[in-house]
Amino acid sequence: SDVLRSATPTRRRDGGAGISVLVTGAAGFVGAHCSLALRARGDGVVGLDNFNAYYSPSLKRARASLLASRGVAVIDGDINDGALLSRLLDAAPFTHVLHLAAQAGVRHALRDPQAYVASNVAGLVSVLEAAARRPHQPAVVWASSSSVYGLNDKSPFSEDHRTDRPASLYAATKKAGEAIAHAYNHIYGLSITGLRFFTVYGPWGRPDMAYFAFARSIVAGEPITLFRGARRDFTYIDDVVRGCLGALDTAGESTGGGVRGGKKRGVAPLRIYNLGNTSPVDVARMVGILEKLLGRKANKRVVTMPSNGDVPFTHANVSRAARDFGYRPTTSLDAGLRHFVEWFVDYYKIDLAKIAKPTKRKSMAMST
Ligand code: NAD
Repeated sequence: SDVLRSATPTRRRDGGAGISVLVTGAAGFVGAHCSLALRARGDGVVGLDNFNAYYSPSLKRARASLLASRGVAVIDGDINDGALLSRLLDAAPFTHVLHLAAQAGVRHALRDPQAYVASNVAGLVSVLEAAARRPHQPAVVWASSSSVYGLNDKSPFSEDHRTDRPASLYAATKKAGEAIAHAYNHIYGLSITGLRFFTVYGPWGRPDMAYFAFARSIVAGEPITLFRGARRDFTYIDDVVRGCLGALDTAGESTGGGVRGGKKRGVAPLRIYNLGNTSPVDVARMVGILEKLLGRKANKRVVTMPSNGDVPFTHANVSRAARDFGYRPTTSLDAGLRHFVEWFVDYYKIDLAKIAKPTKRKSMAMST
């Protein structure tokens, strides 16, 4: 009954009918923000997350508590539990699945490669199976990644650029996911939309990502390791959330007029979109902004990027998402990092006036 209540849309402010979304990875960074935004505009939302220990389970619990306080139930469970997925999808008339649960991070694959296969390949199949088998198939919108562009030298990256040179197992599993999505769309006529996110950052973010880890190290007075020349198309969470909602709102729309099985009819779409910021920034400049906001200098060590997962640069062309659902990133890195730091000092109860002096202890390089 909790699930049913949470899944039921209230009226939208604009008077339109609400949608009902099962959000996997809802206790994650992007999942929590999307769930809150959907609920705030009156859509039904139920979350699913396994609260794994890849990073701070307590941060995931804190996000889930925030969701609960806004009327979003988050079920503790794994996407590889097909029976649970089927039960959830049958418990309420879900119109959409926003599938964000995954094993993220490029460097962690050096330690636990199978986690990427389990969540990003087998887990995606499990979600698509459950959706495809429902009599009223929900449209699936899921997170791919800008990492599929791999060692691309043509920029900005457009969706039709080559994606056959992944630089990490993470990227390879996201690329595999796009092939799997194609098969499910082809066989079952399932509507599927893949979103290639570009380095998403902001409040309630992921502690394993560079901007977050750097902020912690700067506050702790610990050294940070930067990759020389690395550039990222840092994209603020609110922009990404608007993109996800736009993709959900247009996901069910048929591409129309196609010929399938000899009969002319609307064809369930398979779509891929970049959701980026369109203006890559040197990671060293990102650190400079953090230094200014935190009021102290970082103890920087600049090294050559190792070839163990990271790519030298990312840069999104977002004209396809702009055309189809009006996607337009509007947050500068300065403004976005200011919002992040405000949340960060509040969440960790940091008194910026009292932060420690720099030391010479070693710290780990983090994923960008
Ligand atoms: P996140 O790690 O914060 O969120 C993922 C959530 O999924 C976590 O809460 C985790 O506990 C959950 N999860 C993982 N495996 C699961 C499983 N098997 N069953 C149930 N729950 C599981 O990551 P995020 O930054 O919010 O990313 C969301 C999605 O976007 C992921 O698919 C990620 O690969 C993709 N993505 C993120 C970025 C980024 O910069 N944040 C960039 C590109 C792609």
